[in-house]
Amino acid sequence: MQTYDLIVVGKGNAALCAALSARDQGASVAVLEAASEDESGGNSRFAGGVMRFAYESVDDLKRVTEVTDEEIATSDFGTNTREEYFDDLYRLTSYRTDADLSEILVTQSLDTMSWLRSKGVRFVLNYGRQSGLVDGKRKFFGRMPIEVSGGGAGLVQYLDQAAGKAGVDVFYDTRATSLVYDGVKVQGVRVQQKGAPAEFRAKAVILACGGFEANPEWRTRYLGPGWELAKVRGSRFNQGDGLKMALEIGAAPYGNWSGCHATGWDRYAPEFGDVNVGDQFQKHSYIFGLLINSSGKRFVDEGWDFHSFTYAKYGGEVLKQPGQFAWQVFDSKVTKLLRSEYRIKFVTKVSANSIEELAPKLEGVDADQFIKTVRDYNAAVRDDVKFDHTVKDGKSAAGIEPPKSNWAQKLDTPPFDAYMTTCGITFTFGGLRIDRETGQVFDVHLKPIPGLYCAGEMVGGLFYFNYPSGTGLVSGAVFGKLAGTGAGRAVKA
Ligand SMILES: Cc1cc2nc3c(=O)[nH]c(=O)nc-3n(C[C@H](O)[C@H](O)[C@H](O)COP(=O)(O)OP(=O)(O)OC[C@H]3O[C@@H](n4cnc5c(N)ncnc54)[C@H](O)[C@@H]3O)c2cc1C
Repeated sequence: MQTYDLIVVGKGNAALCAALSARDQGASVAVLEAASEDESGGNSRFAGGVMRFAYESVDDLKRVTEVTDEEIATSDFGTNTREEYFDDLYRLTSYRTDADLSEILVTQSLDTMSWLRSKGVRFVLNYGRQSGLVDGKRKFFGRMPIEVSGGGAGLVQYLDQAAGKAGVDVFYDTRATSLVYDGVKVQGVRVQQKGAPAEFRAKAVILACGGFEANPEWRTRYLGPGWELAKVRGSRFNQGDGLKMALEIGAAPYGNWSGCHATGWDRYAPEFGDVNVGDQFQKHSYIFGLLINSSGKRFVDEGWDFHSFTYAKYGGEVLKQPGQFAWQVFDSKVTKLLRSEYRIKFVTKVSANSIEELAPKLEGVDADQFIKTVRDYNAAVRDDVKFDHTVKDGKSAAGIEPPKSNWAQKLDTPPFDAYMTTCGITFTFGGLRIDRETGQVFDVHLKPIPGLYCAGEMVGGLFYFNYPSGTGLVSGAVFGKLAGTGAGRAVKA
């Protein structure tokens, strides 16, 4: 049996932020990771690395990364004011996001980014994914001008180095299975360590071991029938263990337990994420084309908003379609706008020089109906509005069902490319109820459970139905730091 002041379960972004901030309070910390070192890092390691935080000016951005005078002179960074961040969170979650949690997330996001930088995390301007040249000026859109260098894998590496320097002990192949709880206080965890049972004792435990996205049985149970058929975009280790352990001792479930973040993902991608491919099985440029189901019909408004505000929801819409797939169809006018993920080696793609020639190539699709859908859509496109991919341009296709609200251009310029996608689940929204000051977990009667904290995907109440991109890593850092500081103070008091 090993003894520490504090045990952190998991070794993704939230766990490492919790471990670092607990060390800042002087606590001795053990990090227990179910995966081997090779496979460690959780979903955080698969993340693209964009991070959404509140900023009002270039001076705020400079707290996070270097911005040169030339970049300032030639760029429009936009803003993501606290009000804008709140608006996005509230409107996307149908006004259900927990007021306290969203306030912590939004108001602490910039300070937390700056804290990550102080721990050695390197950030860069997000030129690749959310920017374009407008009248000679670089315009950043979608309110997310900064990403972590090296993506999620880079983030985990930087935090890992910081944890090593700070003297955090990491145990791999160590899967927590239950909490040591005497009915009053959590005093440690039982684990399976390299195939044998063992126990770690501590004054407090922080659970930061993800949701239940990789567990098909739990997905079916909570998200509903069909969800066992989704592909898993990231780690295969997030099986809901932390949630199960906490619920077993009476922790309060909270948030959107039947909801999750899920996106369009290559139809023939492997069952779980592949670290060598990272997030590149995703296909996020559908806003410039059409999404077609097996009946040859459209089923969502592809241009409702920037992909940042629809992609996390549309994976679930794809899952609802017969056969759980959708083709994304583009013409050559937008080829240059398609994100890098459309040009990877492993991609399910067909091409043709006319819509009639493309139709029979779309595996599983009613070809005649598809041709009709494109004709009806082309006829509905507004010719009087100019296409502009850097703003919601209002160039719509109206009078068809569903409409396309922005970026609607006729599919008329060969060659035509189509990409087959299915649903890839990212993470589940249901979690535990925590104290806003400390990250301590509440029991079902809303009393804090002594010695138990949680962070990251395990925090319930923030996301319902949908999610603004780049929020997972920031909320992991904000609530990881909160729990690490709260638990660290408590064990050193
Ligand atoms: C493909 C992809 C792309 C993404 N892109 C972005 C992005 O660009 N920006 C963004 O903000 N978010 C992104 N996300 C979401 C983001 O990665 C997650 O929301 C965030 O990383 C979750 O962090 P976490 O620390 O809570 O969980 P994780 O990083 O998943 O960490 C959980 C850890 O717990 C471990 N674990 C699980 N069970 C046990 C157990 N029983 N015992 C011990 N350890 C256990 C796991 O091995 C893992 O190390 C992306 C996710 C994916 C999958």
